[in-house]
Order: sequence, then C-alpha cells, then structure tokens
Amino acid sequence: MVMNMPNWLKQRAFLTPDRSALVFNERKWTFSQLFDETCRTADRLYSAGIQKGDYCGVLAANQPETVFTIYALQQIGATAVMLNSRLTTDEIAWQLHDAKAVYLLYDQEHTEKAQLIPSIQSLFITGIETVSTAAEVRHTFSLEETCSIMYTSGTTGRPKGVIQTYGNHYTSAVASALNLGLHSDDTWLCAVPLFHISGYSILMKSVLYGMEVHLMEKFNSKRVNQLLKSGDATMVSVVTAMLSGMLNELEGDYSSRLRCMLLGGGPAPVSILEACKAKRIPVFQTYGMTETASQIVTLAPEDSLGKLGSAGKPLFPCAVKIDGADEGEILVSGPNVTPGYLNRPDVNKQAFQDGWFRTGDIGRLDEDGFLYVLDRRSDLIISGGENIYPAEIESVLTGHPAILEAGVTGVPNDQWGSVPAAFYVNKQPVSEEELIDFCREKLARYKVPAYFVKVDALPRNAANKLLRRELAKQWSEQDED
Ligand code: ATP
Ligand code: MG
Repeated sequence: MVMNMPNWLKQRAFLTPDRSALVFNERKWTFSQLFDETCRTADRLYSAGIQKGDYCGVLAANQPETVFTIYALQQIGATAVMLNSRLTTDEIAWQLHDAKAVYLLYDQEHTEKAQLIPSIQSLFITGIETVSTAAEVRHTFSLEETCSIMYTSGTTGRPKGVIQTYGNHYTSAVASALNLGLHSDDTWLCAVPLFHISGYSILMKSVLYGMEVHLMEKFNSKRVNQLLKSGDATMVSVVTAMLSGMLNELEGDYSSRLRCMLLGGGPAPVSILEACKAKRIPVFQTYGMTETASQIVTLAPEDSLGKLGSAGKPLFPCAVKIDGADEGEILVSGPNVTPGYLNRPDVNKQAFQDGWFRTGDIGRLDEDGFLYVLDRRSDLIISGGENIYPAEIESVLTGHPAILEAGVTGVPNDQWGSVPAAFYVNKQPVSEEELIDFCREKLARYKVPAYFVKVDALPRNAANKLLRRELAKQWSEQDED
C-alpha cells in the first residue's frame, strides 16, 4: 500500500498561511512566505537541472537559505544528502560518491570546501540563475519515498548512509507530539545543525505542527540562555556538551515558558541531570539515532525525578526490547525506523532481523519498562569476566569539580584481560590519588580506572562525539614507546 499525503509545506501554507514559521536574527517568515521562498529556490534548482529522484548533497550552514533548499528539494522530489560541514573534503567526497549523488549544493560559507570536491556538479545555491521554466511543485508525498540521506556520525566505524523516508520523518514528528503535546504558542529553538537529524527533525515538526522555529546559526551558550530566559523559545534540543556550557553560564532561572529541554545524542552524566533538577529545568532525556529519525525513547516529565539517568519509555508507535536476560543489545522497532542503510546489503542483513533494528547499544529495562542506555556494544570492557561500561565511569569522573571531560577505554591487562584507563581534561590541578579516592566512593572496585592520563583534549569526530577507539590507539602507541 502506497500512502500519499498532500505536499507538507504547500498544505501548511494553505492551512495556516499567516502563522510564524521561521525566525532568524531579525528576519521572520510566515508559512506562506516560507512557501514562496521555497518555490523560488525550487525554480532555481530545477533551472540547474535537478529533477525528481536526483540525489543532491547539501553542504550548508544553519541559514534561512538552507531551510529553503531543504524544502525545495522536497517540492521537486529530489533526495537531500545532508553533509556534516565539519567533515574533511575527502570524507565529504566519499559520502557523495557512496550515495551516488549527482549534485552538490553549497552556500557561501562552504564555497572553498565545495570546490575542492572532485567529480560532482557543484552549485552555489543562491548563485543559480532562474530560467523561465518553473519547477513542478508536487501535489503529494508518498510516505515510502526516500526524503533524505544522512550519514551516521562514524563513532564506531565508517559512517553509514541512512535512508530516511517521508514516513520516517512523519512518524517521528507525530510520535514526539504525542509525547510532549502541542501548544499553539510553541517555538522550537534550533541551535543544533540542520544536517544532523536533531536539527532536520525540528524543521519537519515545524511544517507538520505549524510551529515556529527559531534558527540559530551557531550554538552560543550565552545567546541560547538569553532566549530561554526571555521566554522567546518554549522548546529546545541540546546535547550534553551544549547543556553543560549553558549551565556554567546560567545566572538566575529560565523563563517558566520553557517547557522542554530535549537532551539527546549521547550519555548524560548524572551530575548534569542533578544540576538541572536543582534548577527546575524541564530536561527530557532521550535516546535516538540517525536510524530512528531522532528520538525513539524519551523520559516523560512525570518520571524525570524518579527515574534519573533513564532515557525513558518508547514513544507511542515504537517498541524497545533487550536481546538478553538482563543487560544486552537494545533492539528497536517502529515506523520511524529506517528501512535500511544505503547500498549496504551486508550490514542491513545483520542489523535488521525479524522486524527489529539492532542498535549496537547495550542497555537494560527496569521492572517498569524504563530504558537505561549503558553504552555502545563495541566499547564494552570485559575485566575478569565483569562487564564495565566506560560511560558510567566517565559520568562519575565528570562529576568531580576538577574534571572538565573524561574518556574511558579498556586497555590490555595480563591478570584481568582488560582494565579501564581514564583520559581526562582538567579545569584545575588534581592528583591521581584524589581521583582514585573519588571513584572508589562511587564505583565498585573493579570499575575504578587502573590508569589516569591527563590530556589537553579528547579525540572527537565531526559530530563532536568521543572516539574511544582513538583513546585505545593512543594507549597502545604510548605503550610501544
Ligand atoms: P556510528 O553509528 O557511525 O558509530 P553514531 O552512532 O554516533 O555513529 P548517531 O546516529 O549520530 O551516530 O548517534 C546515535 C548514537 O548515540 C546511539 O546509537 C547511542 O550510541 C548514542 N546515544 C544517543 N542517545 C543516547 C543516550 N540517551 N544515552 C546514551 N547514548 C546515546
Ligand atoms: Mg550508530
């Protein structure tokens, strides 16, 4: 059965033309204006030769023109291959090649980078001349159709191209609304990148809900705090590093209009959750990934105090189970889950089994069905037969006042097979003895790191995620010296 729906933005501009759609610094667009801008952009893209079914790389910053481009590709029926602008040109070239993209759309800021990418037709978005033929704006979207391709962050290996259908984005937005509710005066602050599912999904919510998005070019903790204090935004998506920067800067309280601080993307240290609790910040821990078109599990407000550290329960149309008696790999299912990775039949066969997607993360469900994400399967440390999760140790270490950030990995050990080693960046001097004592108070003996290594920075990927496999590599190289 092919499910068709009216073209989302066109329908939105028809239903609520005068509602505010987008705010960027001093500029504002209603849905009707947003649709007009989008159609003009679609005309340009069409003039350049982009047609229904084409795969187009998008290398662009959080700017209104990027929003128009994302919607314009949907109007034409072309697929957006969203590119992380922090990737190197080689990495971008690889993703474009892997996706078999025929065009690369770029903005002013990425001109130089785009021009270094070989064998692709690069188009400067705002520089394309419109010829008289207008793009055919589609009447309907099919839910099975591929809307976007987004590569995973590449934390555990080479990034994989995730197929995201219109149906995936639609269910993701609806599922989130069934959980968080819709308020007619909601504004979602988007300070996360549009090329990542966290940002792209805010746009899909906007058009489906008829909700205003306040777009920010780059995350800036002072500016975000200002907007949340003044009550200009009622919802905001953040990752841990953003939230910890915001908490460090925060004087006073956020406005009572702030009703959801959606925290996802990685583990949330308990110290941060407790700081939010003390400040009465409505933080919603979520668990999700590129493959689930954003959140799939979220902690509802009424549970946020009782289940600190849990990522919550599945969203209404989704299900979660653990492959194992107690702890094990997290399996998820639901209409927001990708139909598969692009051109990766081998990986697909392994990852999708009996209607479930194997996430590669390890977790457990408590007696009430709340999910606790423990860590990535590939980062698990097995020490003398005991499972150790680096994230738990990192969470403890970042709770120490002298520690800014920490990364833990397993290193070979003759007696135990493997033992945890902690790499840390400090804010003030701290002795190894003090760190050991601190860990001993909070962790079972076998989890206390056997080694502490002070470093200037932790290895991170383009999504700013910790690369524990690089820590392990650093350790073995240091061992060889
Ligand atoms: P790759 O799949 O290429 O290794 P990645 O998994 O980091 O990259 P993303 O899709 O951006 O790429 O990230 C999703 C992952 O982030 C999840 O699978 C999980 O490991 C981690 N994550 C997300 N939310 C949470 C959470 N609440 N707690 C712990 N980990 C989380
Ligand atoms: Mg992943």
